[in-house]
Amino acid sequence: MLVRFWGVRGSTPTPQRENLRYGGNTSCVEVRAGNHLFIFDCGTGFRVLGNALRKEFGHRPLQAHVFLSHYHWDHIQGIPFFVPLYDARNSFVFHSFRSVDTGLQQALEDQMLNPYFPVDMTVMHARRHFHEIGEERATYDGVHVTTRRLNHPQGCLGFRIEHRGKVVVYATDNEPGDPAGDRNVRDLAADADLLIYDAQYTPEEYVAEKRSWGHSTWLEGVTIARETRTKRLILFHHDPDHNDRMIDSIVRKAKRHFSRTVAAREGLTIRLD
Ligand SMILES: [Zn+2]
Ligand SMILES: [Zn+2]
Repeated sequence: MLVRFWGVRGSTPTPQRENLRYGGNTSCVEVRAGNHLFIFDCGTGFRVLGNALRKEFGHRPLQAHVFLSHYHWDHIQGIPFFVPLYDARNSFVFHSFRSVDTGLQQALEDQMLNPYFPVDMTVMHARRHFHEIGEERATYDGVHVTTRRLNHPQGCLGFRIEHRGKVVVYATDNEPGDPAGDRNVRDLAADADLLIYDAQYTPEEYVAEKRSWGHSTWLEGVTIARETRTKRLILFHHDPDHNDRMIDSIVRKAKRHFSRTVAAREGLTIRLD
């Protein structure tokens, strides 16, 4: 399996100079497993991935499974700017949950409604399928994707991807303290080779002013990693107000508790074989 990070920031893009070592684009992670291309979340990093895929595939058709953790802007905003969606040769399956009032397709397409975007969905010529999912396990030619609900306002899904004995877990936008959410994230992360986890706030920020915003801390990340015998922890969904130096200091603190910790940065590529 190959994992590559295209967007690692939470909440909103932050293209300031002091953030560029880790990167300013919002959530998007590519996973290649078997013959399949999987994409987790479509924040602004999704646009950059789209340009790279166009270069790689050229005139060859492109197919991908796109899993969305949820519909907050930082996880969908790259979709209208993903060039491969405008090419009729390509096809995509989008997977996520049905929210209370809105189905998956509508939740994604409404961001292109007048007056929010200059063109509508009719100019997106790629084949698009929309697969509403719940807590389940699906298999794609030997690649298993398990889905569990996380604790986040308006809902969120976490994913465990397994292929040939290797396990990658993508679990972002999760606030600890909810029994079901706490159990689910641990179920997903059990014996994982790689746990990509929401570390938006410092423990101090969380206690002082960020309870109920739906996010976690590096301290919760290292706790889960230790409890689940995760091999490597990737701190993810960096706060927009945490610059590179701040993230460096968060990693230093986290490493004291769990030495195999790094912070996600744009371009970070990890191969698990
Ligand atoms: Zn988010
Ligand atoms: Zn969110």
